[in-house]
This record gives sequence, structure tokens and C-alpha cells, in this order.
Amino acid sequence: MTAHAGETARKTGDFYCATCDEKVHATEGDKILPCPNGHKAFETRRNEPDTKS
Ligand SMILES: [Zn+2]
Repeated sequence: MTAHAGETARKTGDFYCATCDEKVHATEGDKILPCPNGHKAFETRRNEPDTKS
């Protein structure tokens, strides 16, 4: 699953930049911010409470 800066986060979780792997935390209902290096495409989220097993 991928996400892009400017989209609304559907769940709280951490996104990892697809380009530099920087972690960006996103809160449910808030827009996803670009990574600190200015990239806007993210790879899979991790640390989602709903997906812990
Ligand atoms: Zn980046």
C-alpha cells in the first residue's frame, strides 16, 4: 500500500518515505505531511494499532 503527502490519513500510523525511508507520523483524519527531505510518496504504514497481532 502506498500513500502520498496531502492525502488524509485513514488511520494513525507511521509512513516511510519511498525515496529516503524517512519516517513520517500521521494522525487519523489529518493530512499526511511530506517527508523532511521534501518527498511526497510513502511506502507501507507500520505501527497501526488495528493491524497488530
Ligand atoms: Zn524522503
